[in-house]
Amino acid sequence: MFNERMQRRGEERSVIREIFEYGNARKREIGAENVFDFSLGNPSVSAPDCVQREIARLTGTMSAGKMHGYTSAAGAPEVREAVAAYIRSAFGTPMSAELVYMTCGAAASLAITLHALCESGDEFVVITPCFPEYKVFIEQAGGKVVCAQTGPDFHLDLNALDRAVGKRTKAVIVNSPNNPTGVVYGESELNGLAGLLRRKSEEKGSPVFLIADEPYRELVYGVAVPYLPNLYANTVVCYSFSKSLSLAGERIGYIAVSPACAGAQSLFAAVSGAGRSLGYVCAPVLFQRVCAKCLGQSSDVSAYRENRDLLCGGLTSFGFQCVPPDGAFYLFLKSPEPDAKAFCERAKRYELLLVPSDSFGVEGYVRISYCVAKETIARALPAFEKLSREYGL
Ligand code: PLP
Repeated sequence: MFNERMQRRGEERSVIREIFEYGNARKREIGAENVFDFSLGNPSVSAPDCVQREIARLTGTMSAGKMHGYTSAAGAPEVREAVAAYIRSAFGTPMSAELVYMTCGAAASLAITLHALCESGDEFVVITPCFPEYKVFIEQAGGKVVCAQTGPDFHLDLNALDRAVGKRTKAVIVNSPNNPTGVVYGESELNGLAGLLRRKSEEKGSPVFLIADEPYRELVYGVAVPYLPNLYANTVVCYSFSKSLSLAGERIGYIAVSPACAGAQSLFAAVSGAGRSLGYVCAPVLFQRVCAKCLGQSSDVSAYRENRDLLCGGLTSFGFQCVPPDGAFYLFLKSPEPDAKAFCERAKRYELLLVPSDSFGVEGYVRISYCVAKETIARALPAFEKLSREYGL
């Protein structure tokens, strides 16, 4: 009677959501201050001042009809122009407003881009561990997921990528700063990837595209995040303001097709067609306008950095192992037993809510989202210490 595949998707357990719901129930039972919920990546730092200022200015100066009405499907022309101008000046990259499509966040940016690119039989390479929704978006677009594992410290493994990218590969998704590891890929490894993709494109006789999934671009702790269109021509940037401006619930982001892409105009037409087919037209208009005035700004990253330092310092002093993250707000901790789910269950006894790595495509780790109040981390550390003792660390 219904679309069975969709019904199955809807009924699937989301491990992260389940932990979050468990945490809410537990908070009602024993008090919120006694539960240490590190499950969700919901920004804990307020949006920067420019966001409130622009909301107040727009709501105070524009007439309601003008403010809340439709824009064109790809977004308001002045907003698309502002995004293109920002990309040109911030990254020294050619970009034109005609190649910018405003979206409801990175999820929509990815879903649209994958639909725009995918033809029958196409494969899409994801670099694991990775954001679990890639699989959902790729399969819904009709593509096949191919995984390439990362190398030491979760950096790119060019040999694994060489094996994963083949004649059927339409695109590789790169997410840096990374969810779930917090790793930021450096220029030389990205140049290595770009060279590999150029060679593969030649062998294949058509371009292998690079999809840059960038919701965490501004959330970095003193390292540079190379701009992928500057390293590889056939790049589509899927950007979101969810994390950089702490606007996750407002659903706003954009797609920028690099003008250097093969068939850039036609690709943009396919992006527009995919947006139309999926019903992703005219992204939330108030926030299109707000974000156009806040480009390049970010929430207070120093708060996330303090959380990272407190958490990493504490956990490593208790004997846990992790790669200190350079960006985003996630810590990927090695599970002290091979079964990360069993470790999470044990952590739950101390009211520590962690996400096992299986849903990110690797085993033996847990993700800790440290976008929480600093005092939550301070209060959770003694619980982590007790947990470490159980494992004799
Ligand atoms: N890509 C990655 C790597 C993410 O971590 C997320 C959200 O957590 C998204 C995409 C989706 O972001 P948005 O909330 O902007 O749709």
